Amino acid sequence: MEKIGFIGLGIMGKPMALNIRKAGFPVTVLNQSKAANTLAEAGADIVASVKELAEQCDIIITMLPDSPDVEQVVSGPDGVLESIRPGSLFIDMSTIAPSTARTIARQMQEKGVEALDAPVSGGQVGAEAASLSIMVGGREAAFQRALPVFQAMGKNIVHIGEPGAGQTTKAANQMIVGMTIQAVAEAFTMARKAGVDLEKMREVLLGGFAQSRILDLHGKRMIERNFAPGFKLKLHKKDMRIALQAGEEFAVPLRGTAQVAAQMDAALAQGNGELDHSALLLVLEQEYKN
Ligand code: NAP
Repeated sequence: MEKIGFIGLGIMGKPMALNIRKAGFPVTVLNQSKAANTLAEAGADIVASVKELAEQCDIIITMLPDSPDVEQVVSGPDGVLESIRPGSLFIDMSTIAPSTARTIARQMQEKGVEALDAPVSGGQVGAEAASLSIMVGGREAAFQRALPVFQAMGKNIVHIGEPGAGQTTKAANQMIVGMTIQAVAEAFTMARKAGVDLEKMREVLLGGFAQSRILDLHGKRMIERNFAPGFKLKLHKKDMRIALQAGEEFAVPLRGTAQVAAQMDAALAQGNGELDHSALLLVLEQEYKN
């Protein structure tokens, strides 16, 4: 089996790496990672540097916060590009700018390495249950090589197209998710003010046309006021920025996306960036206090 090096063991990366390990792949992680011990207990190898990891592994996966973090790990000093072996496969599963994904694919190709952008949807729950949706950009042969590893982490795995196509799809996903959270938050705030029982409202709406996973999971979070992440608001704001940049690039006015991005800015200004993105509700509650 191919040896997998996994960099970025956060809310998503840790369960994803554990699921790869559970599927029987040899996994290597970095000793500076907060979750290194958990992975070691599951049988992963621990190394001290990106250099060692890249030298020892056949497939290298990153799951990091933002484009600059991936750029740093890939092309910064002592980064993946310096030591990755020709014939290896590089897969970035973070949500980053499509343009950065395309640049990385070019840089890797110059080293004789195939690259895939393979962002995910499904959240922490999907990462733990190995039921993520995975949207993939890059060459078909590289996709086929990665498929058994993707199948250890997800269920709905689609090769979208050229390098960057996975990230463009993910930006579209985040626009829909962000605007739906705002819709649920507005509906709940209005209904609560009108004296409606939100639990009963959620129950009946889940059987109708407004049904969505966001109404289900984030509606529940809003009722229970459980804003522990999950998906951090500051990361979703980063995704809305990526979407707005794509809108500018292709001259598509993304007015709803822009408004929800502004709501997210207000949430960050409230100091709520580390909370789950369902905490977008708190911006409205702050405004409607009186
Ligand atoms: P997170 O919990 O903040 O984890 C990110 C991990 O990346 C950290 O735990 C750390 O791992 C590593 N890291 C952070 N800053 C770094 C840097 N500057 N350089 C190198 N490594 C760094 O974030 P997450 O929620 O797992 O999200 C990761 C990516 O998945 C993001 O792009 C996010 O948008 C996307 N995503 C998240 C969700 C979700 O529901 N959370 C869903 C879909 C997609 P170590 O401790 O191992 O060093």
